[in-house]
Amino acid sequence: MAAPKRKKSKAKTAMRKAQWMRKLSLPGLSLCPECGQPKTPHRVCPHCGYYKDKEVVEVV
Ligand SMILES: [Zn+2]
Repeated sequence: MAAPKRKKSKAKTAMRKAQWMRKLSLPGLSLCPECGQPKTPHRVCPHCGYYKDKEVVEVV
Protein backbone atom coordinates (compact mmCIF):
# COMPACT_ATOMS: atom_id res chain seq x y z
CA MET A 1 0.00 0.00 0.00
CA ALA A 2 1.17 3.56 -0.69
CA ALA A 3 2.57 5.30 2.36
CA PRO A 4 3.12 9.04 2.91
CA LYS A 5 6.72 10.09 2.29
CA ARG A 6 6.88 12.56 5.15
CA LYS A 7 5.34 13.03 8.54
CA LYS A 8 2.66 15.74 8.41
CA SER A 9 3.86 18.95 10.08
CA LYS A 10 2.21 20.37 13.21
CA ALA A 11 1.02 23.34 11.13
CA LYS A 12 -0.70 21.06 8.59
CA THR A 13 -2.34 19.04 11.34
CA ALA A 14 -3.52 22.24 13.02
CA MET A 15 -4.98 23.46 9.70
CA ARG A 16 -6.98 20.27 9.32
CA LYS A 17 -8.18 20.34 12.94
CA ALA A 18 -9.29 23.95 12.53
CA GLN A 19 -11.55 22.96 9.61
CA TRP A 20 -12.95 20.10 11.64
CA MET A 21 -13.72 22.44 14.59
CA ARG A 22 -15.49 24.83 12.20
CA LYS A 23 -17.69 21.97 11.02
CA LEU A 24 -18.61 21.18 14.63
CA SER A 25 -19.57 24.75 15.48
CA LEU A 26 -21.50 25.47 12.23
CA PRO A 27 -23.27 22.27 11.17
CA GLY A 28 -24.73 22.67 7.65
CA LEU A 29 -23.48 26.22 7.22
CA SER A 30 -20.82 27.88 5.10
CA LEU A 31 -19.20 31.29 5.42
CA CYS A 32 -20.24 34.07 3.06
CA PRO A 33 -17.26 35.16 0.90
CA GLU A 34 -18.68 38.68 0.79
CA CYS A 35 -19.32 39.48 4.47
CA GLY A 36 -17.85 36.44 6.24
CA GLN A 37 -21.05 35.63 8.11
CA PRO A 38 -22.30 32.04 8.33
CA LYS A 39 -24.97 31.28 5.75
CA THR A 40 -26.85 28.34 4.26
CA PRO A 41 -24.96 26.92 1.25
CA HIS A 42 -26.50 27.52 -2.21
CA ARG A 43 -28.74 30.27 -0.83
CA VAL A 44 -28.53 34.06 -0.97
CA CYS A 45 -26.69 35.44 2.06
CA PRO A 46 -29.21 36.92 4.52
CA HIS A 47 -26.62 39.40 5.85
CA CYS A 48 -25.52 41.13 2.64
CA GLY A 49 -27.89 39.78 -0.04
CA TYR A 50 -25.05 38.47 -2.19
CA TYR A 51 -24.97 35.30 -4.22
CA LYS A 52 -22.05 34.34 -6.51
CA ASP A 53 -20.22 37.73 -6.25
CA LYS A 54 -23.33 39.74 -7.13
CA GLU A 55 -25.92 41.50 -5.01
CA VAL A 56 -29.17 39.79 -5.92
CA VAL A 57 -31.50 41.01 -3.17
CA GLU A 58 -31.74 44.22 -1.13
CA VAL A 59 -31.07 43.84 2.59
CA VAL A 60 -32.98 46.29 4.79
ZN1 LIG B 1 -22.89 37.89 3.05
